[in-house]
Amino acid sequence: MQEIISLVSTCEHKSTYWTRKNKKQNPDKIERKKYCPSCRKRVLFREKK
Ligand SMILES: [Zn+2]
Repeated sequence: MQEIISLVSTCEHKSTYWTRKNKKQNPDKIERKKYCPSCRKRVLFREKK
């Protein structure tokens, strides 16, 4: 069961990044290091709820 979720950057830009996750394997909110084009570096993105 894959679900489409949005990840929001923890920087001031609030960039969003769409991904999929398996809720059975990942019941908790996920965090990913992703590139923020506005920061021009990798920042932490958190699952939005
Ligand atoms: Zn940023």
